[in-house]
Amino acid sequence: MTAKFEYSPALESRSIVDIKSSYGLFINGEFVDGSGSSFKSISPATEEVLAEVAEATSADVDKAVAAARTAYTKTWSKMPGRERAKYLYRIARIIAERSREFAVLESLDNGKPIRESRDVDIPLVSQWFFYYAGWADKLEFALPGNRQSGSDPQALGVAGQIIPWNFPLMMLAWKIAPALAAGNTVVLKPAVTTPLTALLFAEVCQQAELPPGVVNIVTGAGATGQAIVDHADIDKIAFTGSTAVGKAIARSVAGTHKKVTLELGGKAANIVFDDAPLDQAVEGIVNGIFFNQGHVCCAGSRLLIQESIYDDVLERLKRRMATLRLGDPLDKNTDIGAINSAAQLARIQELTAVGDAEGAERWSAPCEIPQNGFWFAPTIFTGVTQAHRIAREEIFGPVLSVLTFRTPAEAIEKANNTPYGLSAGVWTEKGSRILSMASQLRAGVVWANTFNKFDPASPFGGYKESGYGREGGRHGLEGYLKGAQR
Ligand code: NAP
Ligand code: MG
Repeated sequence: MTAKFEYSPALESRSIVDIKSSYGLFINGEFVDGSGSSFKSISPATEEVLAEVAEATSADVDKAVAAARTAYTKTWSKMPGRERAKYLYRIARIIAERSREFAVLESLDNGKPIRESRDVDIPLVSQWFFYYAGWADKLEFALPGNRQSGSDPQALGVAGQIIPWNFPLMMLAWKIAPALAAGNTVVLKPAVTTPLTALLFAEVCQQAELPPGVVNIVTGAGATGQAIVDHADIDKIAFTGSTAVGKAIARSVAGTHKKVTLELGGKAANIVFDDAPLDQAVEGIVNGIFFNQGHVCCAGSRLLIQESIYDDVLERLKRRMATLRLGDPLDKNTDIGAINSAAQLARIQELTAVGDAEGAERWSAPCEIPQNGFWFAPTIFTGVTQAHRIAREEIFGPVLSVLTFRTPAEAIEKANNTPYGLSAGVWTEKGSRILSMASQLRAGVVWANTFNKFDPASPFGGYKESGYGREGGRHGLEGYLKGAQR
């Protein structure tokens, strides 16, 4: 085993963020008190309480929807696209300017390493707003065949948006940027464990002088989400989260006028062929499953290794995993941060115990687990068969299930043998094999010789139980315009 380099701690200072002791709801351009109780958001790395946040009731959601409706009718839908674009560019620039503040707050509230929030999440957030700002005055090109009609496609109206805790600000950007560019107004609910960057975003809306009511942020738990879904004056529901809640939402809105897009779970295959550059592939495997503690819907959680290179890949993978550093999310040397909540940790523990009971072999990277907070060492299971629950269910943690294959046909069959279909990865030197695999894999995104790469211009979304609708790119506008397929 290679010895770890001894690094001195390199802590990012948290003094750049001014966390208030309590937060209200952001409705009609102002922070207002909620009419219900409140909840606490903690840092999952230390269990320290960061702030007390209002829990929106259905009466509060009603106010937010009314504000969004008025803003839609009186201001936002009347404004030319080039004017809306100015606000989106302004928001993009402010986020870029305040990126360190956002990165520190995201790492504190979510537990993800600062290296990731600083280098991945927040830059992508700003890019997402820049990208969709560019679309706001070009909507006539957004829908295929629309130009002949000679007019801009119309916005839907008020969008209700519900997002998860794994990429809090990034999911907010994926939802809000296209909705606003297309001329909609929004009511957004962040996850109960990670509301703080959404509330800081509300301050950015004020700083950008966005007209009141265009963006409304209502914090709360599942009941607040349900109140958004059930609200009669909402035209569109955009949801990212678990397949179970996604199915419940689809049932709730069936038969209503509401449009829906769902981004749900995944159990992606990461397929390594014997001609792949192995060191690169190992980096891709590690990035695929241990990025963001594996709290990634498109994580490469099923590794398929061609049998002839199995021993070699496994040895390299374990050696690489032994160098991963788990600990304080604000330390710039940290690779693996905290698990987002006690509930998520319990779910990971439960499913990995099932892996043991079903006869798979567990190996965890040797690392010290801090005393407080929620942690799980990077782990792989070998001897996994397709019938094992750890090969079928989303664990949503730093846990990789390893399987093998002999031929490309077997790799395809195993990769597609899942109720999900969000993403997949292929590692091979042959371009022809990449194209052939990509056309046969039933997944919304197929990465070749890389993994977990995101770009605002590239559509992202799933097949089967991974949901429907696309976010990102021109396709991401379709979910917010009349006349689109969904
Ligand atoms: P979740 O329960 O689906 O939560 C996603 C969002 O929906 C949160 O804002 C949540 O609020 C809200 N919500 C919960 N119940 C609702 C309801 N009945 N109506 C409307 N909104 C509702 O997901 P989770 O609890 O965060 O994670 C559970 C599992 O989901 C994970 O283990 C993972 O497998 C999967 N997941 C997938 C993704 C993805 O990106 N595809 C992201 C996160 C989780 P609260 O936060 O207050 O509960
Ligand atoms: Mg938190």
